[in-house]
Amino acid sequence: MTLDPLKLNKKDFQPFLEELAKDHELFAPVRLVEGVSVYRKIDPADEIDLDASNPQKPVKEVFFPQSEAMLRFEKVGNRHKVTSTDEVKKPRGVLGARACDIQAISLLDDVFLGKEYTDVYFLKKRQSTLLVGFACNHPLSTCFCASTGGGPFAREGSDLFFIDLGESYLVEALTEKGRALTQSKLFVKASEKEIALASDLEKKAAERSDARSPSRGSKRNWTSSWRAASGTASMRNASAAGSARFFAPHAIALILWTRL
Ligand code: SF4
Repeated sequence: MTLDPLKLNKKDFQPFLEELAKDHELFAPVRLVEGVSVYRKIDPADEIDLDASNPQKPVKEVFFPQSEAMLRFEKVGNRHKVTSTDEVKKPRGVLGARACDIQAISLLDDVFLGKEYTDVYFLKKRQSTLLVGFACNHPLSTCFCASTGGGPFAREGSDLFFIDLGESYLVEALTEKGRALTQSKLFVKASEKEIALASDLEKKAAERSDARSPSRGSKRNWTSSWRAASGTASMRNASAAGSARFFAPHAIALILWTRL
């Protein structure tokens, strides 16, 4: 579903976050030090880093954290009671994810939501999370999404897609979930000029990305490389993402033992 593109002025971005935060838990890139950002749970008032190309740790962390409480053990009299925890208390929204990171999540779907086995913890997070993707106007020299069937403006997997136009964002609603959010008065119809500017930015980013691609725009299928990296197209994220291949899902479970 792609409706007519909308526009959100940057001055209205903060009010948009505030509206979203009323019924969503929000995650977005936060700068730790110059050049280093990570996804964190945020409050609308927090400073988020939407200018960095891609955080050092992939958005995978939001769906498949390094550690999480999975089971709770309680001693009740002479018996032990085991209950599954539920860490997702309300809908969640991820802002600022880049196309490569979002494409990587779909690869995790193959692993954790496979035909034979389903990781219910991952499933719950996936179903409860709205993805707001951001286009990359300036692909870095290390970016290679074009070689993996993606691209700096790839929209697949996003519910809402933002393109930075300078003073405003061009916003595309790609799913029902995304469309529901654009009912807010903060969003207005984009002009022909703004749509043309977004299209020009997309063309330039694609040319830059294609020129830097190891396969130089050939039809070579790098999907297997993606699967090997299992997490992101970003070189600097690949080693962290690759660790998922060697450790069983949710290898580290925090077990809470309550003595009554
Ligand atoms: S690899 Fe592509 S999608 Fe990812 S940050 Fe670079 S340009 Fe953006």
